[in-house]
Amino acid sequence: MIDFHCHLDLYQSPPAVAEESQRRGIGLLSVTTTPSAWSGTARLAEGRSAIRTAIGLHPQLAGQRKHELALFDRYLANTPFVGEVGLDGSPECRAFWEDQLEVFDHVLQACSAGDEKVISIHSRRAAKDVLDQLDRYDRIKTPILHWFSGSRSQLERAIGRGCWFSVGPAMLAGAKGRELVAAMPNGKVLLETDGPFAQVRRQGLNPWDITAALRPIAALWGVTEREAQRRIEANERALLASVAAALGRPTT
Ligand code: MN
Repeated sequence: MIDFHCHLDLYQSPPAVAEESQRRGIGLLSVTTTPSAWSGTARLAEGRSAIRTAIGLHPQLAGQRKHELALFDRYLANTPFVGEVGLDGSPECRAFWEDQLEVFDHVLQACSAGDEKVISIHSRRAAKDVLDQLDRYDRIKTPILHWFSGSRSQLERAIGRGCWFSVGPAMLAGAKGRELVAAMPNGKVLLETDGPFAQVRRQGLNPWDITAALRPIAALWGVTEREAQRRIEANERALLASVAAALGRPTT
C-alpha cells in the first residue's frame, strides 16, 4: 500500500522513516513544500524504489516562496509527481491570496504542458477555487485532492471532474470526514497520512499508519478490511499506470 501524501523530509529522522517504510513494504508519495527542498528530499528516495518524490510549493508558503517557481520549472522535468500544491482559503492565508493564485496557476499550466503528472492538491477552505482552476486545465487528468474537506456539492463537482482522493486516519476520525469518504467513488480512493503533521490521539502519523484507515473505510463500504485493501491497491495501480511511461524513462 502507498501513503500518497507524506512529508518525509519533515520528520525528525527522515532516513529512519524512509528505511522503516521500505522494510514494511509501504510506498510513499513524498511531497515537498518548497522547490528548494527537492534535492535533499529526492535523495531520501535513492535506492528505495517504493519512495516517489513530488515537486511542490505549498499554498501557505506561496507569499514567501513565489520566487522559487523558476526552480519548480527546472525540477518538474525530473518527476511525474507534483505536490504539495493548491490553495488555502484560511484567514491567515488570505493576505497572500493573489500570490497563491499566481503560484497554483503557474503550476497547473506547467503540468498541462508536457507529460501527464500526478498532482497532490491542498484545498482547505478553497475547494471551489481549486475546482475552478482545474476546470481551466482539462489536460490534467489525474489530480488528487488530499484530505478533501469541502461541501457535499463541491465533492460531487470534484467527482465529476475525475478527481482522485487521498484520505487518511486523521480525516476518518471525524464524522464529516467519514461522510465525505462514504460519498467518494470506491475506485478513486487512495490512502495518505499527511505525516508528520496529521495526528491521531496526539501522535504524529508515520507512513505505515495508513493501515489504520482500512477498518473505517471497510465499514463505510460494507466490505471486509481485506477487500478494502484489495480495492485501494487496484486504485494505486490504476493511478500509477497513468504515469508509467514517464516513470520508465531515465531522469536527470
Ligand atoms: Mn500536507
